[in-house]
Parts: sequence; structure tokens; C-alpha cells
Amino acid sequence: MKIEGPFNQYLGRLLAKSDNPEALLEEKIQELKLRTGELNQVRQKMADGYHQVLTALSEAFPEIDLEDPNLKDSHNRMARALIEVCSGLGSKNSDAINTTFPADDYNEVIILKNIDFTSLCSHHFFPFQGIAHIGYLPDTKNGGKVLGLSKLARILDVHAQRPQLQERLCQSIMEALKNELKPAGVMVVIEAKHGCLNCRGARKREASMITSALDGKFKDDHKVRSEFLSLISVKG
Ligand code: ZN
Repeated sequence: MKIEGPFNQYLGRLLAKSDNPEALLEEKIQELKLRTGELNQVRQKMADGYHQVLTALSEAFPEIDLEDPNLKDSHNRMARALIEVCSGLGSKNSDAINTTFPADDYNEVIILKNIDFTSLCSHHFFPFQGIAHIGYLPDTKNGGKVLGLSKLARILDVHAQRPQLQERLCQSIMEALKNELKPAGVMVVIEAKHGCLNCRGARKREASMITSALDGKFKDDHKVRSEFLSLISVKG
């Protein structure tokens, strides 16, 4: 049995910290059973809806054969896939940022760059994919905090796995770090290619969209902002 995976790692960490791991495990199993039942009901509704969509499509394009083995179960796959790419919706910032460390006297910019992600455009429900660069400046004068680098990647995943606009994704990561770390500044830059632009509509395969969200010193001090931009453009 494969026991590794983000959920098991998360559960493993919780159990390791608990004073009563048996009781906690029992509680989590009950929560999971309840949630699985809810999700199964919703998934069936969604699959029925997708079946209607495919049936209507086959009326518009009779060449589509819904009995084809590659289409027969597609409505179920579509429902499961949509639930999976929306799985960040139940998560909280604290699921990603559960540990911080004192910044001591480190008061330089900290950046994790080229973090890949996939999200879902809420206008068209087509995926958009790209990379994010996330940086912050600890506020050492006011008990500044720093994070383990993997936490920056996790906070991106929590916010990416939901339907939204790229502008909103950028802003919500910035706000999450602002609220959780109270840094002197935070900046997020995202570059992504959108299925709704690449595959349909204008059909521009190579076009990508760049958005940014910034606060604190990144907003007020152009030198700090320039430092971030030059650091994320360094190759290699
Ligand atoms: Zn779109």
C-alpha cells in the first residue's frame, strides 16, 4: 500500500505532535468518512451534469459516439478531475504555514522563485499553468518571522487549487503572507499560460500573462522592488 503523499505527510506530522495520537487518528478517520460521503454525492451530481453536456454535444456533432470506449466513462472522469483541481478550497493558510522561525537579525529579501503550479480560470474553467516567484522581507524590528522554504511552495498550492483569476491568485498569496508573517514587505510575481487564450478564442499559444501583488517596502521603496525583480530574473 502506498502510504506516502501530501495528506499522509500532513497527518503524520499532526500525529507526531499530538499527546493522544490514537484519539486524534480516530477523529480524523471519522472526519474523512463524513467528507468522503459528501464528496461522493456531489461527484455523482457533477457526473450526471457532465453526461448531459456530452449528450448535448453529441447532438450538435453526431460524429461524437458516446459509446466509444474513450468517451463512455468520461463524465465520471471529468467530475473527479474537477473536484481534484478545486481541492485547495477547503484549505486554510494555517494548513500551509504551521511553523515559523525567528528572523533574528536577518533583514534581507527572501525569495523562492520558479515555483510551478496549475490553477483553473474561473471565467472558462480551463486550466492556467505557470510559475510564481514569492518574496518577503522579515520585519526584524518587530519580532520578524521567517518560514521554511517549502512553506512558500505549500501556500502557493493551497491557493492555486481552486477556480479563480490569476490576479486573485497573486493577491491572495500576498495577503496570506502579510497576515501570517507580518513582514516588512511581501511581493508575488506570477507568469502563466492560459488554456482559454491558448486553445480557443485568440488562440495565442505562446502568450503568457504576468501579474504582481506587492505590499510594504516592495511598494514604497523602488530599490527593494528592483532587487526582487533582478533576483528573479537571474538565470540558472
Ligand atoms: Zn479564462
